[in-house]
Amino acid sequence: MEKITALRVFMIESPIKMARLQGVGNVKGTVKRVLVELTSSSGIVGWGEAAPWEVFTGTAEAAFAAIDTYLRPLVIGARIDRIRSLTLQMKQTLVGHGEAKLAIETAMFDILGKSCGLSIAELLGGRVRDTIPLSFSIADPDFDADMRRMHDMVPQGNRIFKVKTGVKSHGEDMAHLEAMRNVFGDTIDLRIDYNQALHPFGAIKVLRDVDRFRPTFIEQPLPRDCLTAMASLAADLDTPILTDESCFGAHDLMEIIRLRAADAISVKLMKTGGLLEAQALMAIADTARLPGYGGTLWEGGVALAAGTQFIAATPGVSLGCEFYMPHHVLTDDVLEEKIDNRNGEVIVPTGPGLGISVSEKSLRANARILAER
Ligand SMILES: [Mg+2]
Repeated sequence: MEKITALRVFMIESPIKMARLQGVGNVKGTVKRVLVELTSSSGIVGWGEAAPWEVFTGTAEAAFAAIDTYLRPLVIGARIDRIRSLTLQMKQTLVGHGEAKLAIETAMFDILGKSCGLSIAELLGGRVRDTIPLSFSIADPDFDADMRRMHDMVPQGNRIFKVKTGVKSHGEDMAHLEAMRNVFGDTIDLRIDYNQALHPFGAIKVLRDVDRFRPTFIEQPLPRDCLTAMASLAADLDTPILTDESCFGAHDLMEIIRLRAADAISVKLMKTGGLLEAQALMAIADTARLPGYGGTLWEGGVALAAGTQFIAATPGVSLGCEFYMPHHVLTDDVLEEKIDNRNGEVIVPTGPGLGISVSEKSLRANARILAER
């Protein structure tokens, strides 16, 4: 059976077009990511991406070191048809660093898929959807700039807009929500994300105001460890509560379900640390009847491809996705051809493996390389 014979890892930096005001970890100028390229004994090449965010999951520098120093010895010589065995070894060898493990697992699936002509979605059980509704985040420090973007995007079929609230004053947030509903009415699917900005003391009063604008959900209103306070918000509000920072993996979700702390979850491959782990998480969410939303960090096209393959094969992720970076935020992506985005939906790539083309040439042309080994 074919084995992995070579591993290359790159830490890259890409310029972004717009500032993003998130409350924590505001982003402006550039974002850093790690890409890994694996080669099999017959010369098949697979790619994976680790896109940590230092205020959320970890750092690009740590992901680079994890792959280069700690995971490389496990990966070289690994059989391409024993991915789960490799993920278990990675878990036993290194604590945390989920994004690094995800990057390796993605590249392995990319190679396995290319070796047999199947997409990763097919390897994960086959598609239940071919397109995924795409959310755009309203997070520009200049709200008028976001309104202008919406005027362009809504006629093109984009319907889902997620407003980053709790950064500016409550009064400003309410004025923005009102402006969006006044201009676009119910043609838009409005969502709210506090990124943990509120405190249990007083949160209910703020969120009752938000309820008036009929959002689809309110994401992570409270700090990640405030599960019982989130449970009382979920019980008191009309709008469902979606949890993001409180839910990285299965243990978190079990506790969320036990306390009824949320009505839905954001699934991010960078949080679960793997495609298989993400599907396992959604199996628990499905059992508790919590729908999933395909979340993202500052991810480029390789991670976007992995995310779309996962969502295509995972029925419970029914609330769309927010993989808008490569389409709207990154100045350049490392892919040779962009993943299609039509009528506000991401088109899941159909080719084998990830269904995308990355090459060293496209990487060097479209990103600044900070380190490589
Ligand atoms: Mg979030």
